[in-house]
Amino acid sequence: MKVLIIDDSSDALALAKVRLGKENLAIITAQSGDEGLKLAEAEKPDLILLDVDMPEMSGFDVCHQLKTNKDLCMTPVIFLTGSDNTEDKIKGLNVGAVDYVTKPFDAFELKARVNAALRTKRMQDLLIEYANIDPLTGIPNRRALTERLRKEWMRVQRHGGKLSFIMADIDHFKKVNDTYGHSIGDEVLQRVAKAISSQCREIDLPARFGGEEFAIVVPGESAEGAGKLAERCRQATSDVQINLGTEDVHVTASFGIAEVSDSPSVEALVKAADEALYHAKQSGRNQVSTDTSPEETAKK
Ligand SMILES: [Mg+2]
Repeated sequence: MKVLIIDDSSDALALAKVRLGKENLAIITAQSGDEGLKLAEAEKPDLILLDVDMPEMSGFDVCHQLKTNKDLCMTPVIFLTGSDNTEDKIKGLNVGAVDYVTKPFDAFELKARVNAALRTKRMQDLLIEYANIDPLTGIPNRRALTERLRKEWMRVQRHGGKLSFIMADIDHFKKVNDTYGHSIGDEVLQRVAKAISSQCREIDLPARFGGEEFAIVVPGESAEGAGKLAERCRQATSDVQINLGTEDVHVTASFGIAEVSDSPSVEALVKAADEALYHAKQSGRNQVSTDTSPEETAKK
């Protein structure tokens, strides 16, 4: 794990580095609050050791800026207090630090406090990861999808560019469950999730939307570009084959696409993709549709 130490004293930096040297940590250092904030932004450390007493920007000011930064507010901070000043310690904890270490550092205490903070950070990372992953398929869940879609939406509103959204639904999935049982149904979901993910680029976000529905956030692409991706996903899904000994289980999926330029809001974009999906279902399933005109009697 990566630890950033911010301290204006080069002696203190060198000492902390030596003290933590054997802990198998990647250690980066900065000698001012300003430099530290930039480094934190660029390197996303797992823990920040922060000197309270620095010229120009104090450790408290640095901590305040960290805690109001959306990308850095979850990074734990341990204050390095120069003296046994109780007021500083309390103030440090109040501005969001998880702990403090008094200088000059006791080697064992520094290591113990750093390791304790990193244990908590690992737990926190794991919880965030679990909160965003669909446990059955191992791909991002609807929460992660919605968050990413909102981010991409904001990005397009600010900077322009393209953004498309794909909704997919496994055809006649209920029949799979009814015919072969839920464990085969689960395997189908897992294999389709894998098939769809395998076609996505690094910047796309494939997710399980719920039930037998999947969705993909496709940044930088018009409906036409997203259509090519959806077509590859459709093909990959129809290639899925589960061998039951006596027979093979095959499935197909239908895909609907909408692009951001036609939608006034995130909700409208999702709805439009869902309507296109409806058209794909209506036109015989196992196909991709970009027809987002609303249907009166929508029933999939
Ligand atoms: Mg100092």
